[in-house]
Amino acid sequence: MALLTKAPRGTQDLLPKDSGKLQFVEGSLLDTAKRYGFQEIRTPVFEHTELFLRSVGETTDVVQKEMYTFQDKGNRSITLRPEGTAGAARAVLEHSLHNDALPVKVSYLTGCYRYEKPQAGRLREFHQFGIEIFGAEKPAADAEIICVANEALAHLGVKNLQLQLNSIGCPACRAEYHKALRAYFEARREDLCDTCKGRLERNPMRILDCKSPVCQDIAKDAPNMLDYLCDDCKEHFEGVKGFLDAAGLSYVINPRIVRGLDYYTRTVFEFVSQDIGSQGTVCGGGRYDGLMEELGGPRLPSLGFGMGIERLMLVLKNQGAELPEDPPCNVYIASMGDAAAKEAFRIAELLREEGFSAQCDLVGRSLKAQMKYADKIGAQHTMVLGDNELAAGKANLKDMATGEQVEVDLGEGLIDVIYRTQLEKELANISQAGGEADIAALLSGIQNREE
Ligand code: ATP
Ligand code: MG
Repeated sequence: MALLTKAPRGTQDLLPKDSGKLQFVEGSLLDTAKRYGFQEIRTPVFEHTELFLRSVGETTDVVQKEMYTFQDKGNRSITLRPEGTAGAARAVLEHSLHNDALPVKVSYLTGCYRYEKPQAGRLREFHQFGIEIFGAEKPAADAEIICVANEALAHLGVKNLQLQLNSIGCPACRAEYHKALRAYFEARREDLCDTCKGRLERNPMRILDCKSPVCQDIAKDAPNMLDYLCDDCKEHFEGVKGFLDAAGLSYVINPRIVRGLDYYTRTVFEFVSQDIGSQGTVCGGGRYDGLMEELGGPRLPSLGFGMGIERLMLVLKNQGAELPEDPPCNVYIASMGDAAAKEAFRIAELLREEGFSAQCDLVGRSLKAQMKYADKIGAQHTMVLGDNELAAGKANLKDMATGEQVEVDLGEGLIDVIYRTQLEKELANISQAGGEADIAALLSGIQNREE
């Protein structure tokens, strides 16, 4: 029975009281991407399992342990998407977007599914904001996606993030590096965890990413990929750093960043926070030049990142960030009697048409109970309509925070008065928060309205 009222492990409900903040954050992220020329793409929650085997890679934790895979009723193997890149890449090829102007720049906000051990910052259903660039080979592209992540996070006021950067080379120079790594870890094979013993054969770089303290300790003195980069990869990496320097971004080189997924080449990066415990990577990404060919498409050097929304929200919360929220109700119109209820209903509709949020009684409460409700839902203003108000065609508009009242005409002038009252409130809030640009935007809004 308890199952009926308990969400599956590793999932979270978004409750109405938190949705305003999340909508603000998500809107801000997509908006930042838009300023860099990325347009949203939406792909299915599930894809053919084969797509993820090919793109994420058979040696990854995601494919080996974490995928939600099932047979559908037509006996196809289907997998809930564990990340956003594969679906976006598939869609680009399927719709031949790469035959239009290159590079193709897309953004997305999607649910992702991984069967992991749930803990702080690690869920089985989580959400990613991501961007991808398809068909851009130059270091400026690597630097641009890093700048998008940086700006998206800065715009939300996230502090104390460290940008960690590495290059994992190309298949050519990585082969040499794998040899050196294998030799290094082979000598310490006995001490490695069981998973890493397996990684030793298939993909020794993955050991660098192992979370076990013993393996981490062994990995400390492992050979460094940067010493093995071929000339082209070295030049590319220098190029990326040059653009980041030009944009004024600071970063640290972390040779142990290899990223979880198989398809990465050259640049890999993470934005890491110290404020949310051990799952501190808020955003991770890099270049995956081989992926599109792997999926049967043309050679199309590509790159992107994924940002964990739940981790981002956790950082914002732990840093005490103040996120603007739309008030749930600008005006609550209370009423007494049938005639007043209809008038309240009419005025509420009028206000909504004008873009305000307005509510009136839906459950036949007494006036006192209506006012209590208005208070509970955080209504900014209230108006009471009774026989007297209907007869006079006037009512008092009460500011719930200050208790101030102004008399308003229920006819013609009503909207204007409410509009002005509301504006004054917003201006006061904004100037308290020091948002000069927002004030300018509001004022130009007023002007447009008055014209
Ligand atoms: P980790 O090393 O933390 O497992 P990862 O390499 O598996 O990360 P990616 O596949 O690169 O992560 O996903 C990009 C981002 O998505 C991560 O940086 C993180 O913010 C977020 N993320 C990944 N897995 C989870 C999860 N299980 N729960 C919540 N967020 C996640
Ligand atoms: Mg992971």
